[in-house]
Amino acid sequence: MSIALGIIYLIATITFVIGLKMLGHPATAKKGNLISGTGMVLAIIGTLFLQEKVLETGEVVPLFKTVSIFVYSLIISAILLGSIIGWFMAMKVKMTKMPELVSLFNGFGGGSSLLIGLIEFSKNVGVDDANKASSAIVTTILSAIIIGSITFTGSIVAWAKLDGSMKDLRLPNYNLINNILFLALVAFGAFIVMMNTDSLILIYILLIASLIYGYLFVAPIGGADMPVVISLLNSLTGIAAAITGILYGNMVMLVGGILVGSAGLILTFAMCKAMNRSLSNVVFGAFGSSGDVAVAAVGKTGGSIKKTSASDAAVMLNYSTNVVIVPGYGLAVAQAQHVIHELEELLTRKGVNVKYAIHPVAGRMPGHMNVLLAESNVSYDKLVEMDDINPQFPNTDVVLVVGANDVVNPAAHTDPSSPIYGMPILNVENAKNIIVNKRSMNAGYAGIENELFYNQKTSMLFGDAKAALTELVSELKNM
Ligand code: NDP
Repeated sequence: MSIALGIIYLIATITFVIGLKMLGHPATAKKGNLISGTGMVLAIIGTLFLQEKVLETGEVVPLFKTVSIFVYSLIISAILLGSIIGWFMAMKVKMTKMPELVSLFNGFGGGSSLLIGLIEFSKNVGVDDANKASSAIVTTILSAIIIGSITFTGSIVAWAKLDGSMKDLRLPNYNLINNILFLALVAFGAFIVMMNTDSLILIYILLIASLIYGYLFVAPIGGADMPVVISLLNSLTGIAAAITGILYGNMVMLVGGILVGSAGLILTFAMCKAMNRSLSNVVFGAFGSSGDVAVAAVGKTGGSIKKTSASDAAVMLNYSTNVVIVPGYGLAVAQAQHVIHELEELLTRKGVNVKYAIHPVAGRMPGHMNVLLAESNVSYDKLVEMDDINPQFPNTDVVLVVGANDVVNPAAHTDPSSPIYGMPILNVENAKNIIVNKRSMNAGYAGIENELFYNQKTSMLFGDAKAALTELVSELKNM
């Protein structure tokens, strides 16, 4: 590798690390993304124009001088086409559809790993034993094919499920079938390595079996668990990229892959922790597709609810000292982030102390609420994490819950039979008054009843979040 390319790879690696660190906070996330993206562009340009090749004569020449212009034009056209499509998809996607997009992009990552694996393996075909790739390299190639294929079909299934176009599929003894298939895949891969074969037929069998496994792995997992699965698949994509980095001896690909792999795993475990579930429970458990659980839970609550109007809610908020807003998925669906910010500013001008309570899994993807509120320029010091806000609820005059349900469901503390039992929640029931805005008495993502709505301190403000908050703002302006 030329010194210049080595330096570019080093710079790119540093930008990945810095960018990843900056993604940890909404204030710096955009810049972090841009920094890492720039590093990636640098690495791609460096690879295209500074990569060297050793000729048979021993002479070292730039790689692009040994490749036809046609091939380079193909590569550059593919990069441009992919960038344009990616840019349009990212610009067009709604915040609530983000997990689907992430899943689809994951699938493409896995797909490219499997293609790279196939291309590298085919270089071995017909080559005499002395020049064949070593067992270590073939193992790496097969790992890229297996992991890439699983990620590819797994991510497409996850995308289809989130999109609602595919239902959960559970074969009898699906866990047993899946585990046997996985072990068979590993054993078959080991067999190919030991046979030192260049049979493409065997590779295609391995490929098809891995694709089927990816499908069977994700198909039984319930819809509510999809974001966790996507995060897991994301980390697998990283591992697949790291493996291809090993194949090409490409440091930046290796480091990038390891960073994605480890960040994805950390996120996976953080989400499991926030839902009080183990990873094995998510992957092998039944939550989320649990229509049966929902039915069991519904009906335990019941009782009467108290409705309120925008004008009564405005009076209550106007005469409060401390108000906490709890944003949830419904706020995102209604695109009510700007009007909630307007409400917060209005109340602050009236001398009310307003904060937002952020639950780690509020919404449909990690950090959903932070991203949404950042979009409407809510000041970050107003966003308070669950563990910090929970002790403050007893001193809160009014909690305004907007389109949130599961993350404020006290069944997590009180009902051991509830599927969310043990999940850490925002303890809004400890506040002096609670106003809940949603459109109906329908359940949230977990499909279960919420006794908070029947609490004597709770008033229900029915309506679409954007419309209800707009009315609330206009009532407050008239006070
Ligand atoms: P929920 O899905 O529990 O509830 C959202 C509520 O919003 C619904 O009850 C719905 O009631 C209401 N709603 C929908 N549209 C509107 C609208 N236009 N205006 C007003 N209200 C509306 O959301 P939470 O944020 O409380 O909880 C997130 C759930 O997602 C949890 O179960 C969590 O485990 C799960 N999850 C989240 C992940 C993440 O990373 N964030 C990952 C995995 C799972 P109605 O229809 O009556 O309006």
